Amino acid sequence: MRVLVTGGAGFLGSHLCDRLLRESHDVIAMDNLITGSVDNIAHLAGNPHFHFIHHDVTNYIYIKGDLDAILHFASPASPIDYLELPIQTLKVGSLGTHNALGLAMAKGARLLLASTSEVYGDPQVHPQTEDYWGHVNPIGPRGVYDEAKRFAEAMVMAYHRAHGVETRIVRIFNTYGPRMRINDGRVVPNFIRQALRGNPLTVYGDGSQTRSFCYVSDLVDGIYRLLLSNEVEPTNIGNPAEMTILDFARSINAITDNPGGIDYRPLPVDDPKQRRPDITKAETVLGWSPQVALDAGMEETIAWFAEKLSVTESAGRSL
Ligand code: UDP
Repeated sequence: MRVLVTGGAGFLGSHLCDRLLRESHDVIAMDNLITGSVDNIAHLAGNPHFHFIHHDVTNYIYIKGDLDAILHFASPASPIDYLELPIQTLKVGSLGTHNALGLAMAKGARLLLASTSEVYGDPQVHPQTEDYWGHVNPIGPRGVYDEAKRFAEAMVMAYHRAHGVETRIVRIFNTYGPRMRINDGRVVPNFIRQALRGNPLTVYGDGSQTRSFCYVSDLVDGIYRLLLSNEVEPTNIGNPAEMTILDFARSINAITDNPGGIDYRPLPVDDPKQRRPDITKAETVLGWSPQVALDAGMEETIAWFAEKLSVTESAGRSL
């Protein structure tokens, strides 16, 4: 296949590019680099099956030649990022998705939308199944991301129903691994950075809120299977191993021998109290389940961050 990955220089986008290339596809990565980085795709430079286009998908997208699939992954994705980039977040989920769908229609390509567990908001159904409609505050600070992704899902289903575009929707739950931005504000990079520097870990609220963390290779495998499947309606991909943020902080302090302890900070507005995917559908329809345990995934991730921090700090660059 010839595949376009929007957000291809981002954390997930770049790992998807790697997987697609390993499966012998031709890949075009598109990114405006507001939260992505060319560092994530630098190792692909010179690969004749890979091309990078610096472009903002909220503007009309032009691609020369055939296209078989579009993976629409462009969007700020950390709460800090979408608080700083609220309009861009709304635009990429709405206008960007519209442009990507128009391109899919013109090329006869399949489109897979990166949606999110945030469509469930602060969920009142636990664990979250795909048929739950969610509990979202449309005007809160997270609303720009949640509503953009909900709109994007609606747009994808409309193009599927009205124009017969082949579409897939993945609802991605918390994912971690190498290439997360060290200062993107999410809990995994924050805790690892703080622990590696011997600082206290900043736990928001009392740390009783829960999350379930999926290692990036598992997530990419689920997405690849979904792309090749016939499943049109949204599919959760994530790891159902749920834990409190306080337990997560304690385990990172233990793994890294960090004497820094915990520093409690205020809970952000509308922070979901619990989150865990019900992955029955992915298991039955895609034959997928996560394979990487948290210990193993964290070991890889901490090693990557340690390397990144030492390179950055020895170059005298601040984070
Ligand atoms: N969090 C925290 N300390 C941090 C960063 C995040 O306690 O330094 C909490 C945050 O309040 C949330 C959870 O960790 O409950 C996950 O936050 P993240 O920003 O990674 O993503 P979210 O799952 O909220 O989209």
